[in-house]
Amino acid sequence: MRYITTIGLEVHVQLKTRSKMFCACPVEFGAAPNTYTCPTCLGLPGALPVMNHEALRMTVLTGLMLDCDIAEICKFDRKNYFYPDMPKNYQISQYDLPLCTNGRVPLHDLAYPKDAQKSIATPDKEVRLVRIHLEEDVAKSFHFETSTGIDFNRAGTPLMEIVTQPEIASPEEAFAFVTSLKQILIYGGVSDADMEKGQLRCDCNVSVRPETQAELGAKIEIKNMNSISGVRRALAFEIQRQIAALERGQKLEQETRGWDDGASATFLMRTKESAHDYRYFPDPDLVPVKSDVLLPDARARLPELPKQKRARFIRDYEVTPYDAGVLADDLDLAKYFETAAHGSKKLKAIANWILNDLQSALTTAGKTITDCPIPPAAFDELVRLIDSGKISGKQGKEVFAAMFASGKGAGTIVKEKGIEQLNDSGAIEALADQVIAANPKPVADFKAGNAASLNFLKGQVMKLSKGKANPQLAGEILERKLK
Ligand SMILES: [Zn+2]
Repeated sequence: MRYITTIGLEVHVQLKTRSKMFCACPVEFGAAPNTYTCPTCLGLPGALPVMNHEALRMTVLTGLMLDCDIAEICKFDRKNYFYPDMPKNYQISQYDLPLCTNGRVPLHDLAYPKDAQKSIATPDKEVRLVRIHLEEDVAKSFHFETSTGIDFNRAGTPLMEIVTQPEIASPEEAFAFVTSLKQILIYGGVSDADMEKGQLRCDCNVSVRPETQAELGAKIEIKNMNSISGVRRALAFEIQRQIAALERGQKLEQETRGWDDGASATFLMRTKESAHDYRYFPDPDLVPVKSDVLLPDARARLPELPKQKRARFIRDYEVTPYDAGVLADDLDLAKYFETAAHGSKKLKAIANWILNDLQSALTTAGKTITDCPIPPAAFDELVRLIDSGKISGKQGKEVFAAMFASGKGAGTIVKEKGIEQLNDSGAIEALADQVIAANPKPVADFKAGNAASLNFLKGQVMKLSKGKANPQLAGEILERKLK
């Protein structure tokens, strides 16, 4: 029996505003517990919420980036429940009139896990969205040995909830969705979307059904995933668990599960019987919002999106789709590359230096592109020195290493170290004569038609010149002499 998997995701994204959603407390990660609080975000009786307009604009901007319909009017509702992380016993959220509806997230090849990039089931897939609404984050609980501590610094942080259609077909696609979404959010400057800091969290709804069955299987929710690889592993585990249960003839029920990363397994949290009834009603403290006042600003901030940037890189810089993907994957790297390529005629060569030598040097040195010791404009000089034959490609690597170590320009290093390619035909001819005299066997082989022997002889000339001879010129001179 074959089974069909259906996955839908609910992604919570903390917005990168300076202050909280309904009060002026700062939004900052890592401060001492309960230092950024006030009567409003503590949920004290009588405190009144005041809307953060920047959070509304960022949500509209997100909607525009993801091709959503922006509602003309949206409103805030109270979602009622009792829990220590929400002492006023309701969370301000949006129920029937969210700010954004529909929309889609295009999945990029490089957003899939590396081991799955060769076998993408549906290339250029777009995952459609149901809605994006805005709400306030709750406080964070810390469970100690015998007690629980609650930190209200997080309470009231603006939080977007992005809900997909149930049309993700595999754990790998879910991985690609979160990666692609995260990139767009970073491009728009609406969130750093760092899962380790809880700025992006994900609930996964997953069901399996035999391929002969038309209706969806029981919807099982995995709560609060906090890493992209965790999303993939949790879904893979859960799909196998559900298939095994169905194969045993067991009937699956709607339930909520958690993910134990250490044990690599999901566990039961609650079943349908204890599902919440939140009794939403409009928040009487907050007036409905008309989006026409938010749209002009959001439109003005609409960035070039990852997909557009990749297309432009391929068109303007003659790089391969793969290279364009790697460059556009990191906004800082893309900016660095564009600065490096500015005004240069050797775009492809500059892309190669940055993608290969520079990336690997940065990794080895434990640095990122933002603290790269080589200023981007320095690559053009390096490439021109090689292109003009002043230094060889091999010497170029040596110059690059010195640039990385010292931050000095290529020309300065060539001068200081006396690195120069030997282009003097007379001098190379003299070396070629020595090599021919010392290697009668390869010479005879070449004359008998073994073309590969020329490479050996060329290597000997390079060796005699201590790597300084122009290899192309050396080859030409040898060939001429051996005719
Ligand atoms: Zn506050």
